[in-house]
Amino acid sequence: MTASVSGPSNWALMRRLMAFGWQYRARCVQVFLCQIVLLALGMAALGLTGLGIDYIRHEIQPDAPPPHWPFGIAPPAAWTPMTVVVVIAVVLLALAGLRALFNFAYSLGAAALIERHLMVALRSRVYDKLQRLSFRFFDDYASGSIINRVTGDSRGVGNFVSNVLIQGIIMFLSLAVYLAYMFSIHARLALVCLATTPLLWIVSTIFSRVVQPQYRRNRELVDDMILKLTESVQGIQTIKGFAREREQAAVFARSNEAVREQQQSIFWRVSAFVPTIGFLTQINIFLLLAYGGHLVIVNQLPLGAGLVVFAGLLQQFSGQIANFASIANTIQQSLTGARRVFEVLDAPVDIVNVPDARPIARAQGDIRFDSVTFAYQPGEPVLEDVSFETHPGECLAILGATGSGKTTLLSLIPRFYDPTRGRVFLDGADLRELDLDGLRRNIGVVFQESFLFSNTIAANIAFGHPDAGQEEIERAARIAAAHDFIMAMPRGYDTLLREGGKDLSGGQRQRLALARAILLDPAILLLDDPTAAVDPHTETEILAAVEQAMTGRTTLMVASRISTARRADRILVLDHGRVAQLGTHDELARADGPYRRALELQFAEVLSR
Ligand code: ADP
Repeated sequence: MTASVSGPSNWALMRRLMAFGWQYRARCVQVFLCQIVLLALGMAALGLTGLGIDYIRHEIQPDAPPPHWPFGIAPPAAWTPMTVVVVIAVVLLALAGLRALFNFAYSLGAAALIERHLMVALRSRVYDKLQRLSFRFFDDYASGSIINRVTGDSRGVGNFVSNVLIQGIIMFLSLAVYLAYMFSIHARLALVCLATTPLLWIVSTIFSRVVQPQYRRNRELVDDMILKLTESVQGIQTIKGFAREREQAAVFARSNEAVREQQQSIFWRVSAFVPTIGFLTQINIFLLLAYGGHLVIVNQLPLGAGLVVFAGLLQQFSGQIANFASIANTIQQSLTGARRVFEVLDAPVDIVNVPDARPIARAQGDIRFDSVTFAYQPGEPVLEDVSFETHPGECLAILGATGSGKTTLLSLIPRFYDPTRGRVFLDGADLRELDLDGLRRNIGVVFQESFLFSNTIAANIAFGHPDAGQEEIERAARIAAAHDFIMAMPRGYDTLLREGGKDLSGGQRQRLALARAILLDPAILLLDDPTAAVDPHTETEILAAVEQAMTGRTTLMVASRISTARRADRILVLDHGRVAQLGTHDELARADGPYRRALELQFAEVLSR
């Protein structure tokens, strides 16, 4: 699953984005003020240019209408025409200098707003939310899509604030000023020149309808490409081992090509849209020269303050309308990104503390499953009507075929998932009523393949308890039978693990994971087949370490081999998500059932060797 197409309407999204931008209103206002000053300076320069032209025309053609000095500020009579022209030119130059300065301030302000404040805040919000989301979310969304949402899509939201909100308000404001100026010069001329404007709106609307689904598709294709890339990096060993480099490269190339093709088709549409808008606005200039030129000739419009200023205004007007095209384009992009970012921010966190969650200090370790049914997908139960109880300090092995639901059963205890039906109790209390952090602090988990971070060995062991001292870390490592191999490394506990500890053997990684769980001194230890990926010799070593680690804790251990399971106090046999048998090794070995059959099979194997 990548992005869902349905969801909030564009308007609802825009309102939400505006509310998001509103948090940065003070900074937006700063950026905005720069633009208002720029607008005022631009208008002043245009007016002054018109005035200069009218002045020169009047000097060389005394019967032409005299210039209309604004606010009654005329040059002193003592100044020669040359002085007046030079002064006007110098003021124009000064205005240009000021505009450059404010443009610089605007760019700096806008970049700081987006890069330093908005994007940082948004990325951390998405990241924080990802940390709180339950496993179900990660089951549903591909990792490429999640990464793309933090990096790419949040940029879309940032762009909305800078390129849509701020630019949009500036655009409307500028258009209003240009229009007012044009109408104050000559209302009829303004009406004639703006006759094509409605066409611009129609073209823009058609464009946005066509292009929005395309942007959405684009993000999905990019998700897929990132997924292919991360899979090839993570699975490089398998790829090389099976000599599938060429095929994998082809898979990536196809995905890459799909993105390129799609971008090309968006590019085509954008490329056609911008010049269309440009052409429509040029029609205005044609109308101005035809009708405005006539007005100047019949002396109804001054040449400078009328026609020249009008031409300038129309050019600016067209510029802003073209800007409208790019704003419309950004709106589509941003809405697509925003929809995907908000999907993460809005995803329900289904595993939460109830309002009056019971705090939990040290648990006894009495775990009880009461008619528990669990399904990842509705209607496809993976566990059905599972009931059993462990006693504090007991070790229970869970045995069953692959896919029988062993890992799933373990994951209900730290509440990685909640049961679909039935309840799980710890020391007589429903897990859902207990404080979640407190519950998880009581549980140490060793997964089939434990994740190690690119940090020192000591930091990896102390992951769940970063304040632990060196002594505690070493004690945990000794119990986990990891101390010796750690000390044999050049820098001991300070050895930096490369990505995921890939320079360690499977058995070493498992022992570090075990030490990490032991350091928490948990009341409950969950071991998900810790010897699944190791050779028989390492298995014996790890099991010896596990036996040490189990003392004083309730341990649930998934086992795929009887040799592992028989060391436990009791054994629970799962069959297609149901409890098939539960008892000690001796009891189960005597009873007629799957355990004895597995045992006989194993003996037969040993005998036939
Ligand atoms: P076991 O540990 O006994 O091999 P699991 O508990 O891992 O079995 O899986 C039981 C069943 O649930 C399998 O059919 C598996 O495909 C399915 N399953 C496991 N994890 C998920 C998941 N995150 N989403 C959907 N189905 C899952």
